[in-house]
Amino acid sequence: MILPEPIQKLITALSRLPGIGPKTASRLAFYLLHAPEDLSQDLAAALDGLKSRITYCQTCFNITTAGRIECEICASPAREASLICVVEEPLDVLALERTGGYEGRYHVLHGTLSPIEGIGPEDLRIRELIECVRLGGIKEVILATNPSMEGAYTAAYLRQQLQPLGVRMTRLARGLPVGGDLEYADQNTLLKALFGRQDM
Ligand SMILES: [Zn+2]
Repeated sequence: MILPEPIQKLITALSRLPGIGPKTASRLAFYLLHAPEDLSQDLAAALDGLKSRITYCQTCFNITTAGRIECEICASPAREASLICVVEEPLDVLALERTGGYEGRYHVLHGTLSPIEGIGPEDLRIRELIECVRLGGIKEVILATNPSMEGAYTAAYLRQQLQPLGVRMTRLARGLPVGGDLEYADQNTLLKALFGRQDM
């Protein structure tokens, strides 16, 4: 069966998304075709300029609205500025924020070190983290990289780099599924891991 071009184009585009195979893409495309017009319009409006309307916080490198220098967390006087939680991705910030139990700030690395894939410290926001700690005023750095091999390797590297600066470093408590991502941990598990964090 040859599909009309507009729907074929949509199926092809949807198929490029992670976790969406050709069957799911076709189902979504046909769903949109029959759904009320405003759904397609809302989707198109949300996608239009998505990248140009998002920028990175100059302090923690979390995502924020274009035009802002700092994200809302860094800009908030209610957040404890002497406590930094180091995470791999903006989605991890979201996961920790959802627990409602963290009052410090973040630092987003944008990945993990991976010698196999050739990802070194200069490819991540590591220099900025070290600089931030070096400037002083930081009492504790929570190394909250994912409990994966790369996450553990990255945390060990950061520990080595930050140790000479004399800052307290902690790691989330065990109990998070090994190999899993913070974003997939349920809120209670994540909250327990946060409150039970240990010095390293
Ligand atoms: Zn920020």
